[in-house]
Amino acid sequence: MNEFDLIARYFTRPTLPLQHADLGVGDDAALMSVSAGHQLAVSADMLVAGRHFFADADPERLGHKCLAVNLSDLAAMGARPTWFTLSLALPQINPDWLAAFSRGLFALADEHQIELVGGDTTRGPLTIAIQVAGEVPQGRAMLRSGAQVGDDIWVTGPLGGAAAAVMHRTGRAQLPVDIARQCDLRLDLPQPRVAFGRAIAAYAHAALDISDGLAGDLRHICQRSQCRAQIRIDDVPAAPQLSHLPAALALEAKLAGGDDYELCFTAPQSARQQIAAIATHCGLSASRIGSILPASAQTEPLQFLDSNDQPLALSFGGFDHFKTT
Ligand code: ADP
Ligand code: MG
Repeated sequence: MNEFDLIARYFTRPTLPLQHADLGVGDDAALMSVSAGHQLAVSADMLVAGRHFFADADPERLGHKCLAVNLSDLAAMGARPTWFTLSLALPQINPDWLAAFSRGLFALADEHQIELVGGDTTRGPLTIAIQVAGEVPQGRAMLRSGAQVGDDIWVTGPLGGAAAAVMHRTGRAQLPVDIARQCDLRLDLPQPRVAFGRAIAAYAHAALDISDGLAGDLRHICQRSQCRAQIRIDDVPAAPQLSHLPAALALEAKLAGGDDYELCFTAPQSARQQIAAIATHCGLSASRIGSILPASAQTEPLQFLDSNDQPLALSFGGFDHFKTT
């Protein structure tokens, strides 16, 4: 099988009518139009074997995950997914692997009605680079810079399940087999909160998806919005599986664990009811975990409070691929 057979067999679906693209896979470039009154939201995420996933990872789950993390970025902007490109470096052509990978990829693509319009395929160390695009009504995207003093801070879902899976796999913690399996699902099959993100965009001031951990990611909102955040740690919802971890690891998993792909956002207090209703409608749980305060030179931008509202000395960084210590 050569490169062109591979693209035709696994990444072209000629039977499906194009929904968003004017021209899809097969020419030198794809052609797209943007709906009137909308902006294009574009994001890219690259997954490298050995760094973002284990080289022997289940290919169907990998197909899901590499698109899910990209869709999660669109969710965080409040955008409706429209199309994506897929650039693949493969060490060899393995038909079983490719069939399973494309199955996982297209199952999630179909769920979100996003369309594969092109890409690139080459031989090399296993690397999956996806670029996604979506549409957002002009001026309505949720930016990291939009948080306002007095806003509530919210998160979807319980946090820490994916981090617990990583702790288990890397030997930092030992979970019972069934619990580890539940955490694996959180790590391997994240569910991008696309419908929820689109719905809250009418109310939320700022949003991002939690890829590197709540603590690290929330700092981005503080920085961009020039404000400070207080988080009541007891209000941060922990994945039920974390009760099987030592307390310190459970706290680290929920406050600083990456890979959950839940949304963190800020919204005015006046929107509490609407946001709760949207969460119910989407079948998600959304929790109010703190508030946005004015920036202050004396205080850390991110402050954790204990059950008595006393500041806690916790230092969690976000994940940084280039950190050397
Ligand atoms: P070019 O030589 O112009 O770069 P290619 O031979 O790389 O074109 O690709 C041929 C067509 O197949 C293009 O439309 C390209 O977008 C598409 N394509 C290549 N790789 C993939 C892939 N992994 N998934 C989807 N489409 C792909
Ligand atoms: Mg090419």
